[in-house]
Amino acid sequence: MIPDEIINQILDRTDIVEIISGYIPLKRAGRNFRANCPFHHEKTPSFMVSPDKQIFHCFGCAAGGNVFAFVMKYERLEFPEAVELIAAKAGIEIPRTQAANPGARSEAAKIHSANEAATHFYHYTLLKTDSANDAVSYLKKRGIKEETIKKLKLGYAPQGWDAFLNFAGKKGFDPGFLQRAGLTVTGKDGNSYDRFRHRVIFPIHDNKGKIVGFGARVLDEAFPKYVNSPQTPVYNKGNNLYGLNWTAQHIREKDSVIIVEGYMDFLMPFQAGVDNIVASLGTALTVEQVKLLKRFTKNIVMVFDPDTAGESASLRGLDIAVSESFNVKVAALPQGFDPDRMVREQGVEKFKECIDKSIDFFDYKYNVLKSKHKGSDINSKAKIAGEMLLTIAKVPNAVSRSEYVKKLAQYMDIDPQALWAEIKKIKPGQDTSTGVSLEISDSTPSSGVCINVAEKMLLGFALEDFSFIEQIRKHLNVRHSENDEFNILLGVVCDFWDQHKNINIGKLVNSIKDQRRCRIILDAYASTQEVTDKDKCFKDCIKNIKQTDLKFRLKALQAEIARAHDLKTDEESLNKLLSEYNGLIRQKTEV
Ligand SMILES: [Zn+2]
Repeated sequence: MIPDEIINQILDRTDIVEIISGYIPLKRAGRNFRANCPFHHEKTPSFMVSPDKQIFHCFGCAAGGNVFAFVMKYERLEFPEAVELIAAKAGIEIPRTQAANPGARSEAAKIHSANEAATHFYHYTLLKTDSANDAVSYLKKRGIKEETIKKLKLGYAPQGWDAFLNFAGKKGFDPGFLQRAGLTVTGKDGNSYDRFRHRVIFPIHDNKGKIVGFGARVLDEAFPKYVNSPQTPVYNKGNNLYGLNWTAQHIREKDSVIIVEGYMDFLMPFQAGVDNIVASLGTALTVEQVKLLKRFTKNIVMVFDPDTAGESASLRGLDIAVSESFNVKVAALPQGFDPDRMVREQGVEKFKECIDKSIDFFDYKYNVLKSKHKGSDINSKAKIAGEMLLTIAKVPNAVSRSEYVKKLAQYMDIDPQALWAEIKKIKPGQDTSTGVSLEISDSTPSSGVCINVAEKMLLGFALEDFSFIEQIRKHLNVRHSENDEFNILLGVVCDFWDQHKNINIGKLVNSIKDQRRCRIILDAYASTQEVTDKDKCFKDCIKNIKQTDLKFRLKALQAEIARAHDLKTDEESLNKLLSEYNGLIRQKTEV
């Protein structure tokens, strides 16, 4: 957790215009700045940055927020990372909270530096020593260019038992530590020796570019084909995606990622210019891997080898990506090909063709299941439907989920109601068929949900200029509004004016911890920006709210009068109610 004081300090010392203009060109337009929105495609600029209020807003796609929100969205960062980035730009140091285990931190740092040393050693051995001749000719035979070897820092672990061990010893790494780092192993005799011997080395980087582990491949068809780093304090196989450190930027630019299985499946297309690609280093994607990708894109193309395509592990990987809200497509390669061989033997264009022909995960899984459970009997039908529903149940968006159920019903000629009944069994207690309204995300503009248009615009005026607040107070007795949310937010805005004598909305939304309310504030501000005759609009809003309020009170009074009639209440009380009613009617015509 970064302390609030620090966050406010950062907001005080940064200018949203300066930060955003570091990403996109801004043009001055009156008090604000305009640009083409970086978050949706457009030709006329509807993206606005306000230096007074320290927020941005897009009238086209409703993106908006303070400087952190912009950097999070643009750089696809988590909040703490965005804060760190902006803090660095502002020259503010974020105090580190004491690590839970300071010893563990330094061990991790030490492993990183041992991995660096090892990478350097293997890379040097490959490029500069005769012992690597076999490895060099092997890589050449596989079609790997020298520039790729250099870029990916490929290496060669020489034959023998202690070449690296001796090198590392001279660098001051002791055998016990090297074993914990996963670089050596201990034999039955209790002695250490090199984990990787006579193999081509693929250093594995995390997405920040630090070397966390290694994959090592034999030069022939010996077994095991690959030896990998074991789990260490810095490496967990399922937490990384091979290549992401080189391709993250391109994945974001193309807004799509191709996921392959192995090192070579990554390397060959990458070398041939396919730059939005990563390797999962396993048949099934893990949740952690999928989450890593979330910052860069929501669109995945999985490339399966025909050998592993139908395996349940592959299908499980699909489900994981689907459940994390990705648009998932699958590209199946022709029999006998993996991406490595495909590019090497048929050229990268053929590979790209396969990617272009990728199909939606739904159709893919359906085809796999259909060839698995052949026949049109009820049993196979039930099996296919059951497995398809397991995936569909994981689609987080209720609208898409409903579409998939419809599609499945159509494909299989089954009543959709029957499928819904089955889905409910998968997620007990959750009514998926009516879940749509419950799943509106935080980013959905909440216009009309808990605050009406007139109230929203009044809030917008209140954010713009303090004089509007005085008028609201004068014309609109607080109890006039039956809407609590409006009163609460107006109170928040008033307090901010009182405290700061101006409104930095960037700071204001940061102080409001409720996402929904932040959204209303941002929408409110945007709602009055395009208004030309502000005074007239303001008066209309006041009038509208008064009328709504009167209508509400009249209705309540009507009900009370009707009840008084029914209960034969004494005449005096009834007359009192009636005169109150007439008073309200008069007020209504005055408004
Ligand atoms: Zn936009």
